[in-house]
Amino acid sequence: MRGSVCRPVAVQQASGEEESMIPQSSTPRPRRCGYCLLQQPMRAKHCQTCQRCVRRFDHHCPWMENCVGERNHRWFLVYLLVQLLALLWALRVALSGLAPGASWDLWLRANCFLLAALAVLGVFSAVVLLLLGVHLYLASVNCTTWEFVSRHRVSYLKNRADERSPFDRGLLCNLWDFFCACGAAARDAGVPNSV
Ligand SMILES: [Zn+2]
Ligand SMILES: [Zn+2]
Repeated sequence: MRGSVCRPVAVQQASGEEESMIPQSSTPRPRRCGYCLLQQPMRAKHCQTCQRCVRRFDHHCPWMENCVGERNHRWFLVYLLVQLLALLWALRVALSGLAPGASWDLWLRANCFLLAALAVLGVFSAVVLLLLGVHLYLASVNCTTWEFVSRHRVSYLKNRADERSPFDRGLLCNLWDFFCACGAAARDAGVPNSV
């Protein structure tokens, strides 16, 4: 403050004009978490359930009682795939156990428990398949569930005219970053200027 008081008025006016001529970057300023007061990297979000900030936050999974984020998102997909394979195997076993019946009524009575199990397994398989498909799609366009669902609330997305994710580097690069690269977060540190 003292330095600015000592400077001549003309110099202060000139420096003000110079600052106004500097083009403002479209990259949002780093945010500070309102809960744990940490400076949040781009794409991080505070999880109210886990009480911590999560890098490249995707969602909080109530089944695992943990957040899905930068370091475990790929393993979450593997977990879904293993679950789907186990469910399909169980469906196959249940189908092979269906006993034949002389009539429709007898067949229903003989297989009622297996049919109930098949219905439950079918619903779970459909849900897991849907989740796997959605997460694979989001990985292919380098978008998170949080960004996809709450785009209007995300500071670096809500003012963008382009519907595409600003982190989208093309299908192969996105999938490589998602499944193989550990340094993808560093590339996500800034949003490209094309709005
Ligand atoms: Zn936080
Ligand atoms: Zn969480």
